[in-house]
Amino acid sequence: MAETSFDLLVIGAGPGGYVAAIRGAQLGMKVGCIEKESLGGTCLNVGCIPSKALLESSELYEQARTKFKKHGIQTGEVGLDLGAMMKRKDSIVQRMTRGIGGLFKKNQVSHISGTARITGPGKVEVDSGGKKQTLTAARILIATGSRPVQLPNLPFDGEYVLSSTEALALDGVPERLLVIGAGAIGLELGSVWNRLGSEVLVAELMDHIVPGMDKEMGAGLKKLLEKQGIKFRMETKAESCEIRDGKVHLQLKSKTETTAEVCDRVLVAVGRRANTEGLGVEEVGINLDDRGRIAVNPKFETSVSGVYAVGDVIAGPMLAHKAEEEGIAAVEMMAGQAGHVNYDVIPGVVYTYPELASVGLSEEAAAEKGLKVRLGKFPLMANGRAHSLEAADGQVKVISEEGTDRILGVHILAARASEMIAEAVVAMEFCASAEDLARTVHAHPTLPEALKEAALAVDGRAIHM
Ligand code: FAD
Repeated sequence: MAETSFDLLVIGAGPGGYVAAIRGAQLGMKVGCIEKESLGGTCLNVGCIPSKALLESSELYEQARTKFKKHGIQTGEVGLDLGAMMKRKDSIVQRMTRGIGGLFKKNQVSHISGTARITGPGKVEVDSGGKKQTLTAARILIATGSRPVQLPNLPFDGEYVLSSTEALALDGVPERLLVIGAGAIGLELGSVWNRLGSEVLVAELMDHIVPGMDKEMGAGLKKLLEKQGIKFRMETKAESCEIRDGKVHLQLKSKTETTAEVCDRVLVAVGRRANTEGLGVEEVGINLDDRGRIAVNPKFETSVSGVYAVGDVIAGPMLAHKAEEEGIAAVEMMAGQAGHVNYDVIPGVVYTYPELASVGLSEEAAAEKGLKVRLGKFPLMANGRAHSLEAADGQVKVISEEGTDRILGVHILAARASEMIAEAVVAMEFCASAEDLARTVHAHPTLPEALKEAALAVDGRAIHM
């Protein structure tokens, strides 16, 4: 007979939930993980992984069309097989989600398929296609994630007005795609379709792209995306929308003008909202914060004793690695260990070309905190490896505190910035100074040498500039 009583029941098998479940099992807990869809959550099924698969494929297509010639590689006419591209993406997703099933088996985590609702302290009802069962647990961890925010005047219809989920699975390249929102998701999916041949227009409410990231670096990325053909309308919002003759007709309104736009598809990427509905949170008295997310204390415990929450469903950046770290910390603290998440050092990456990766404070955030800073900048143009990769666009910026030289933030606009930022994260985790980075030997020729040079530049000592 299947188990009905657990030490820990995790609701949701996204990066927050499945990682917490495995860590709990490693720590000797009897763990069950309830998931209503496929294992892996948003990240593996309709987020990080499929988007990066399409970004890679579309980037290779773009390179084959425009960069191979420069390398002296001759090809015939480069064609697009979108079906094969989507099939590759789907098979990666399948492989990864199956992998979680394997990890659950290996760690003896019980996978319970169904929709969970908390019915009382330590009690969870699971509805598996109409068949209900009640499970009990000493502790419950909510990791139900988030879903795309819908605009009232642009409701998702799955065909013309799309969320990121549908934009990852189109069966044809839209001639004209309008993206609402210039955050990471809008820019990444806008880049995919731009590379595959769509005319892409991005409308953003703010006066800068990638809100929250360092403004100078965001402006640098915008310029490079414009060079690739993506158009931007800043301080602009989408007004009325109508579907006529297979096209989307909508109005874009800024302070100075209102224009009528016609496009084939609209991607609304204006943020995500915590999944708390139907979970029983109100009934059992779990408090939400002012933005509808589950409120937790530093141990990730909610207002109800024994019920915890991590990931997108609580406050903080909606990122897979943040959810994972919280899942691990929460479970370690349940086991009496000293789990910890350092929220000052959570990297964020926009996987465009080039990529924009960031950790720590932006120049604006440092100024807001009243911190006096020193800046070191180094252009990729002066890095040998960048030239060998045909990737000399971008720059690295190191922000250190005046007086202590402690690194406060690192921002990298470069091909493979997502890989480069790890070094900055480790340095900051160990409270390194810019001088520490500057004196660390870096292999030559590599892109991370640009990070070392930017650290040298903090003290006006960059060699290749
Ligand atoms: P989720 O991954 O959302 O998982 C929650 C799970 O809970 C889901 O599987 C859901 O079905 C399940 N669930 C919900 N309610 C119930 C219930 N009542 N009963 C049972 N199961 C339930 N982040 C990055 O760090 N890097 C990226 O490159 C990146 N790219 C992204 C690209 C896109 C297009 C999108 C949409 C997101 C991206 N993200 C990225 C964000 C990332 O996917 C999320 O931050 C991450 O998945 C959050 O993890 P989570 O475990 O909190 O929730």
